[in-house]
Amino acid sequence: MKYLEEFQNPELARGLLDDIRATVTRPWALMEVCGGQTHTIIRHGIDQLLPDEVELIHGPGCPVCVTPLEVIDKALEIASRPGVIFCSFGDMLRVPGTDRDLFRVRGEGGDVRIVYSPLDALRIARENPTREVVFFGIGFETTAPPNAMTVHQARRLGIRNFSLLVSHVRVPPAIEAIMTSPDCRVQGFLAAGHVCSVMGVDEYPELAARHKVPIVVTGFEPLDILEGIRRTVHQLERGEHTVENAYPRAVRPEGNPAAKAMLADVFEVTDRAWRGIGVIPQSGWRLSARYREYDAEHRFEVSGINTREPAECRSGEVLQGLLKPNQCEAFGTTCTPRSPLGATMVSSEGACAAYYLYRRLGMPAAPLEASPVA
Ligand code: SF4
Repeated sequence: MKYLEEFQNPELARGLLDDIRATVTRPWALMEVCGGQTHTIIRHGIDQLLPDEVELIHGPGCPVCVTPLEVIDKALEIASRPGVIFCSFGDMLRVPGTDRDLFRVRGEGGDVRIVYSPLDALRIARENPTREVVFFGIGFETTAPPNAMTVHQARRLGIRNFSLLVSHVRVPPAIEAIMTSPDCRVQGFLAAGHVCSVMGVDEYPELAARHKVPIVVTGFEPLDILEGIRRTVHQLERGEHTVENAYPRAVRPEGNPAAKAMLADVFEVTDRAWRGIGVIPQSGWRLSARYREYDAEHRFEVSGINTREPAECRSGEVLQGLLKPNQCEAFGTTCTPRSPLGATMVSSEGACAAYYLYRRLGMPAAPLEASPVA
C-alpha cells in the first residue's frame, strides 16, 4: 500500500477483524503503548469491533500526560520571571500545574510563546540576545533527538541565552515497570512505531523473553493497529513471545543511527518521575555534563517547589491501564477539556481526551471510509 488512505480501507479492516475472530479462543489483554494509537482506536471504534475476548488497555505513551507536576510547576516558575521568553509546543499551555497553567502565566504578563520546533526557540534566542529563552523539552524517544540537536546547535553557534527544561522519558523502562507491577494484566504489547523508528527494536527482545510477552511494533493507522493486534493474538494463541515489526514502512531494526548518535552526545540516561506513576529507574534523559550550561534547571534556581495533585484526578491509574477514563468519577462532570483536572484530559494524545472527544459527546465512531488522513 502506498497511500495513507489505503491504511484505512474498510474491506481490508474487515479481513483483519475476521482473522482475529477466527484465531482467538480465550481472553487476552493487550496494551497499546502510545496515546496516538489510543486516539486511532477510540476514534474508529476499533475496541468495539474486536471480539469480546480481546481487551485493549491504554498505556502511558502520552508525552504531555506523563510530564511530572513538579516539572510543570518549574516551567510556570521560570516562565513568570522577568526577562524570560518561555517557548513550548501548544499542548503544554493548558496542562494544569499545582495552581495555574502557562496560559495563566501569559495572561499575567509572562512572555510565553507557542513554537512548532525547538529550532524556532533557538531563532528567538538569536533575535533576543538580552533575554533568556527557555524551550520546554518533553516527550519520548521521538521528540528527544530534535531537542538534542537544538542544544548541540546552540553550542556550535555560541548562543548562550538559550536553555532547555528537560523532561524526556523512555518507553522500555515503562514497559518493565508495567510488567513488574502486582496489578499488571497486560499479556501483549503494541509497541509505538515512531519510537522504534528512532531507537530500532534492540531494546525489546530481552524484555519480551524475560516477561514472556509478545511485543509487536505497530503504526498508527486503523489497519496498522488491527495488524498489530492480529499478530499479537496469533503469538498469544501459539504460546509465543517474540518481537515482530508490523510497521516496516517506518521502522528499520537498527532505527535511526544519526538520531541515536545525537541523543548519546547530548543526553545521558537518568531516573525519571512520571506524572501519576512515580519514579521509574533509568526511564529518562537529562542533559549530560558537557551540556549542563544549557540546562534550565541548572541556570534558574527552581528548587523548593511544593506540588499538589488534585485529589479527584485518577490519571495515574488511567496511564497504567488500571482504569478506563470514563470510569473516573470526574470524567465529563468536573473534568472536561475546557476545565481539565489532569493532563490526560487536555493533551491531544491523552486517553481521557480521546474518550471525551469521540464517545462522551455522543458522536458515533468515525466510519473507516470517512476518516481524514492523520
Ligand atoms: S477524567 Fe479528568 S480527573 Fe479523571 S483521570 Fe481523566 S484527567 Fe483525571
